[in-house]
Formats: sequence, structure tokens, C-alpha cells
Amino acid sequence: MTDTIFDKIIRREIPADIVYEDEEILAFRDIAPAAPVHVLFIPRKAIATLNDANEADATLIGKLVLAATRWAKSQGFADDGYRVVMNCNKDGGQTVFHIHLHLLAGRQMHWPPG
Ligand code: 5GP
Repeated sequence: MTDTIFDKIIRREIPADIVYEDEEILAFRDIAPAAPVHVLFIPRKAIATLNDANEADATLIGKLVLAATRWAKSQGFADDGYRVVMNCNKDGGQTVFHIHLHLLAGRQMHWPPG
């Protein structure tokens, strides 16, 4: 699969405001925030879209969600609430083809999303 901007962030070839990392996951602030808090949680493993994830990735994807919820709690906004989003392909609005979980917080979210 092709290298993405997120692979470059993982390799520290381009800068990012990293807020969390472990052996499998990196989290950094979105360059174009859609909310007062907008952080992207990505696996170090390159998976292009959710369609490319398989059973072997189930634990990793679960860890992505739990890393986000843990971080939300650590930042003190978990009780107020937040939204997590994973976009897939064109109709889902995906623009970077390395799966990522958006964590959005700090304002009232609306439904349905745009
Ligand atoms: P998608 O639209 O694929 O679900 O989300 C990709 C996100 O990556 C967008 O919200 C976009 O603002 C963010 N993004 C794209 N390029 C960069 C970058 O170079 N640095 C950071 N921090 N975020 C980026």
C-alpha cells in the first residue's frame, strides 16, 4: 500500500502535536480541528481503510478505541462527553488512507452528522 502523511508522522519525518503514544498507537492533534479538541488515534500498523481490517486486527482496533477513551478521561472531558468517528472511503469522507479514529470534544455535537 502507498505511504501516507500519517506514516511520515509515525516516522517523525513531519511534525505533529503528539498527545499519546505506545508500541501500537500514536495520537496527535488534527491539523484542521473540527472541534476545540480534535485528536486522531492511529495504529502504527498501516491499514488503508476499515474495509482492509480483518480478524487479526480486532484487538488493535479495540485498543484504538480504549486509548481514546482513556485519554478523554485523563483530560477531564469524558463525563461531559465526546464523539469518536472513523471515516471509510469516499462516501465516508476519508481523505487519509491509513485508518484513524477521530476524537472530537469541547462543544455540543449534532446529529445527523454532515
Ligand atoms: P479523514 O478525512 O481521512 O477521516 O481524516 C483525515 C484527517 O487528517 C483530517 O481531519 C485532516 O485535517 C487531518 N490531517 C491531514 N493531514 C494532516 C497532517 O499533516 N497533520 C495532522 N496533524 N493532521 C492532518
